[in-house]
Amino acid sequence: MNGHFASVGDEPTKAQYEHGVQVIDEDKEFNSKINAYLRVTDVAESGFNYHLISVFGSQSTGKSTLLNHLFGTEFNVMSESERRQTTKGIWMSKNKKGSMADNILVMDVEGTDGRERGEDQDFERKSALFALATSEVLIVNIWEHQVGLYQGANMGLLKTVFEVNLQLFLKDKQSNPRSLLFFVIRDHIGNTPLSNLQNTLLQDLGKLWSSISKPPGLENSRIEDYFDFAFSALPHKILQPDKFVTEVDKLGRRFVAGSRSGKVLGQHGDQELDGGVFLPEYHRRIPADGFSVYAEGVWDQIVNNKDLDLPTQQELLAQFRCDEISRESLIAFDEVVTPLEDKQTEAVRIGKPFVLPGLGKTGSAAREKCLKSFEVSASRYHKAVFKRKHQELENKIDQRLKALYQAQVSAIHKSGVATFSEAVSSAVKAGQKSGGAYEFAEIVDAEKTKTLEFFKTEAQSLAIQGVPWTNFKSQYLLFEKELDEVSAKLRKEEMRRLATRVERWVKSRLGDAIGLEFNKLGSGRGGSGAPEEGEKPPTEKDLWDRIWSAFVEIVKEAESRFADRAKSFEASQDEVDVGLWRLRRKSWVALRERIEEEVMEGNILLKLRENFEDKFRYDEAGVPRIWRPTDDIEGIYTKARESTLGLIPLLSRFRLAATYGPPDLPDFIGHQPSGAEPEDEDDLTPIGGVDEEDGKSLEEEMTVLSESKRQDLVVRFKKMADGVYVEAKRSAIGGVAQ
Ligand code: GDP
Ligand code: MG
Repeated sequence: MNGHFASVGDEPTKAQYEHGVQVIDEDKEFNSKINAYLRVTDVAESGFNYHLISVFGSQSTGKSTLLNHLFGTEFNVMSESERRQTTKGIWMSKNKKGSMADNILVMDVEGTDGRERGEDQDFERKSALFALATSEVLIVNIWEHQVGLYQGANMGLLKTVFEVNLQLFLKDKQSNPRSLLFFVIRDHIGNTPLSNLQNTLLQDLGKLWSSISKPPGLENSRIEDYFDFAFSALPHKILQPDKFVTEVDKLGRRFVAGSRSGKVLGQHGDQELDGGVFLPEYHRRIPADGFSVYAEGVWDQIVNNKDLDLPTQQELLAQFRCDEISRESLIAFDEVVTPLEDKQTEAVRIGKPFVLPGLGKTGSAAREKCLKSFEVSASRYHKAVFKRKHQELENKIDQRLKALYQAQVSAIHKSGVATFSEAVSSAVKAGQKSGGAYEFAEIVDAEKTKTLEFFKTEAQSLAIQGVPWTNFKSQYLLFEKELDEVSAKLRKEEMRRLATRVERWVKSRLGDAIGLEFNKLGSGRGGSGAPEEGEKPPTEKDLWDRIWSAFVEIVKEAESRFADRAKSFEASQDEVDVGLWRLRRKSWVALRERIEEEVMEGNILLKLRENFEDKFRYDEAGVPRIWRPTDDIEGIYTKARESTLGLIPLLSRFRLAATYGPPDLPDFIGHQPSGAEPEDEDDLTPIGGVDEEDGKSLEEEMTVLSESKRQDLVVRFKKMADGVYVEAKRSAIGGVAQ
């Protein structure tokens, strides 16, 4: 159905169509410019508000003349001198007279008695069929003296009209279109009243009807099942020109809307048939903007001798026109939507989420406008086809909008997540700057609420009433879930920051506490200064007990600081447990490092030297000794040296006095909590006896000085002690010599 429907060509002008437009030319070709003509004459936009009239009759019976007078048309007429056929094929022109119905289209059909075309019954039949398929009113133009001549040429034409009409009705039973046969009797002299002429005609028509062969199923049909009749008589145009004009004017007034109830038409009507001729039931219900396509389709069927099937034609027309209207409606939609699609594509290309402002409003407006404009024109066509094409159009634009909206939701999602984590981070930073008095959980809650609101507002602005895919509730839930994930990540980072702070605190506390304990070694009596009343004087033997309990105390305090703070930002128990576990491990490692520092060669040697010197150079009361030759320098030296040397094995291992074994470090650190993730272990130093797979035992973990270091230390210490001894000895002798 596509190929032969030519589209509208160059925009025509009114002047081109002064004489109307030739619908079918003498070669039986359909003119592709019909629609252009309908547009130029403003009929195309009239929907159903237009009318079609055809004229029939023998050649040179003044048909074109009548139409020109009646409708102000300018169809060619035969000049008075040369009697030659002028109207070729079928012409069409719009009524130019006022005070008639809107948009009357008149078709002037080539004379049909075959005088000049030879016995061209074929064209006569075809044009009759074409006129019947399209026209509401068929004017039958007839001389008065032809009335009653049953065998006359007119009757041949009418016979054809009736036959093709029945042929049409075989296919088109449901729409059952009626037509008005309007007899205009020309050169009415007046001797025979119109009513008599009318009766004669009706009798002849009745006879004619019964004589034609009817298709099966329609044998008993009556002529008035299909036709209404109207009659009018006009005086001789040349002999009574004034009267002719008056009567034609009177006749013209009848081309208005009419109704069956009025004083109208029909077989037995009044002689004064002056009611409106356009009854709604005559209308073929082809929308004006589809007329040319329809007429062309109909003519194509007729000219190719195919069975003319009007319902099928109407369906094909509907498909063709609905597609066309759909394309037209899409133009405005494209204008709005394509730039948005381009913007989005560009945003995706550069990888930056871009939320199109006001997309919901623009999108739904474009959608509604497109569908509405389609409905206005297309709803006049075949209902089922219209519905189907409407659905197709809706699917098409919804597919585009859907892609647009989904990308928008994804942009909202991405930018929402980014805004959220930026906002939380910068609020935390601001809080840290202003002294750390910020509540992480509150910041997260506030920003989450804000971001969710943003998403909701944006997503809801896309909603279109009654269009389920514009509901983005599930995406909202996904978004919320992602915010929670981001919050969890940020909270984890916050936990790490907190952990770092607490670890730093632990290190500093350990630094002081352990330093203090080791400094006590420097005093040979196990402590500097006098012990306080009631307190058991610290001894070297319980060095590790004191270190351990100081450590435990510091870590406990750190743990409670950590846990309190972590709880304040709504960390889960699992997260807190992991944090505490990490804290204990890191604290232990820090302790080990601190001890390592203390026992570094130079440091520990210094401590041992102090310890030794304290024992060697001071008496029990803490008074410095002045060596005299009589003193048992060697005895005191040996005692002090052995005492200090005794410290070395004690220092070599972390052992508690009560058990003479290592502290229960695995128990202190505890099992790895089930909530810990691999990344939680990333930066953890393995601990002997705790991380079994590490292959290092607890005993090894507790070894402070290795065997070789120990021996080395003994040698160095002895050398140093020897030096002190020699010096003492020398000073004793020297003192005497003085
Ligand atoms: P058509 O072939 O039926 O369209 O006839 P035309 O309108 O071309 O007219 C054919 C001839 O009939 C012309 O010479 C007209 O002048 C003449 N004519 C027009 N109207 C009348 C009329 O009312 N009576 C008579 N007798 N001749 C007419
Ligand atoms: Mg003519």
